Formats: sequence, structure tokens, C-alpha cells
Amino acid sequence: MVPALQVSGLSKVYDNGFQALKGIDLTVEQGDFFALLGPNGAGKSTTLGIVSGLVQKTAGSAAIMGHDVNTQAFDAKRDLGVVPQEFNFNQFEKVRDIVVTQAGFFGLTASQAGDNADYLLKALDLWDKRDTQARMLSGGMKRRLMIARALVHKPKVLILDEPTAGVDIELRRSMWEFMQQLNQQGTTIILTTHYLEEAEQLCRNIAIINQGEIVKATSTRELLSQLHTETFVFDLDSAVPEGLQLPGYDVSVASQDCIEITVEKGQSINAIFQQLTEVGLEVRSMRTKSNRLEELFVNLVQESK
Ligand code: ADP
Repeated sequence: MVPALQVSGLSKVYDNGFQALKGIDLTVEQGDFFALLGPNGAGKSTTLGIVSGLVQKTAGSAAIMGHDVNTQAFDAKRDLGVVPQEFNFNQFEKVRDIVVTQAGFFGLTASQAGDNADYLLKALDLWDKRDTQARMLSGGMKRRLMIARALVHKPKVLILDEPTAGVDIELRRSMWEFMQQLNQQGTTIILTTHYLEEAEQLCRNIAIINQGEIVKATSTRELLSQLHTETFVFDLDSAVPEGLQLPGYDVSVASQDCIEITVEKGQSINAIFQQLTEVGLEVRSMRTKSNRLEELFVNLVQESK
């Protein structure tokens, strides 16, 4: 079976000379629910922009369902639905017309287009708004309209760029449910996100991108198993002595009087206090370092050293 998405050696240098992608390889199998996860500026939108034909690549190749996005652009586009971050429909057009018009680009008959549009507008809770101008919709409705439009030609692969950025919790959950159903019905879904929680809830496989490079590509389960450690931050009453080591613990110096210690499941925190006391250090305060995505990054960087 050809992969839903195959990306090889993809590079992008923008006109200002900035290299946003440094040779990315990615494979997403058919039927997968896949996240491209990374902090802002990592290169997620650039990657998906190239895949969807919106951004010109500098080097490398990308294919959707085996069709090269440049040399077999029509076939690639027919198999692909794209939901970019910005609302890019005509705000003065009516909701149903926006969805039906899109179907025309893919050669659907008027009756097929109408049927598909109506099904999607109902599924995405936009049916009551079908004759309303798009500019009158709320932000959440506009986002759902973008999804309906992307799906009207029944693509095999759906790409969503930060689908729930700025979306409230309730709507986020209902969008997640919709995407899960779609995936169960066989559509391959690829999304970008900077929320670890979103990738964790939805996706079977995750690639982590940072500064234009793939840092890790693996199953969600395997990735999260790396989070079985927790990092604690200790503020000390005095400066951290040079070369401080606590036997059995991984200590890093965060600032002059602050250290971070990563603790495995089952390791004792009391023993840390004891050891610090033994070397004459008083703890002023202690907290957990809660950003799990950040923690994952630290683990991955340490792993690659
Ligand atoms: P992400 O989607 O992960 O937030 P992007 O792919 O949007 O990241 O951007 C990756 C990097 O490329 C960022 O440093 C961004 O500033 C830069 N970049 C994006 N678009 C352009 C552009 N048109 N010209 C120059 N630099 C750009």
C-alpha cells in the first residue's frame, strides 16, 4: 500500500535567506491519525504548505497517495483536503455556496456537490447557517466551514494546520469527535499542533519537529512512555556549588541558586532533600516543572547526545 504521505529530504529556504526546513523525511501510512508536533516557528506550516502546494519547496519531494505534489499535482490535490490556519474563503459568499463551489474544482456534478455539501453542513452543525454570509459566522463556525469545504470532494487524506488554535474547550472536544469519526471511516488525518495534549488524545503516531528538523518520529504510546520521569525545580538558599552531583540523580543547574532534578518513577524525593542537606544546601522552595512538551523535548535532546 502506498503511504498517504511521503516526504523526502524536504528543504525550504525563504526569500530572506532563512532556512525553515533542513531536509525533512516523513512517512504517514494510510488510515493513520498523525501529528506533526512542535513549538511555534518549528516549520510545521511550511511543511504542510509544501505538501498542499501553497509553498514552493527548495529541495526534496512530497507525495500524496503516491502522487508527487508538483509533477502530479492534480491527482495529489484530488486525494487531499487542506484546512489552513487562516480563514481564506470569500466572507460575502453564503456558507453552502462556499462548499459547493469548492466541489466544482474537482469535477463533481452539481448534484454530487450538493449532496456532499449538505451531508457535511449537517455533520458539522452548520445546516441552519447554510444561507448565511460567511462573515456573519462565529470563529468556531468559520473553522467548521473550512473543514466542510476541505472534505467536499471526499479526499483520502485530510491535513489540518493547528485545527483548534483559539477554539474554546467545548468546541475543541466536538471537533475532536468529528475528526475521530472521520478517521474511523478511513480518512487519513494529519494535523499540526503545539499542544501535546491534542496529539496525545487523537493521534496514533507523532513526529516532533524543532528548528526545521524532525527530532523524533514514533508512536504516541512510545513517545509518552518517555514521560515517566518528572522534573523538579529546587530553589536553594545559597549558590549552587561548582560540580554539584547527587549520586543516583540527574542534576542540572538552572541558574545561580536553582537546580533541576529529573526523577524516575518510584525514586524518592526525600532522599534528594537528605543529600542536599548533607552537602550543606538548604532548599527554599520546590516545584514541579509542569510543561510536559518541554520536558519531552529535554528528554529527546538528551537522548540524541
Ligand atoms: P510553525 O508552523 O511550526 O509555527 P512555520 O513553518 O510557520 O512554523 O515557520 C518556520 C520558520 O520559518 C519560522 O522561523 C518563520 O518565522 C519562518 N517563516 C515562515 N514563513 C516565512 C516567510 N514567508 N518568509 C520568511 N520566513 C518565514
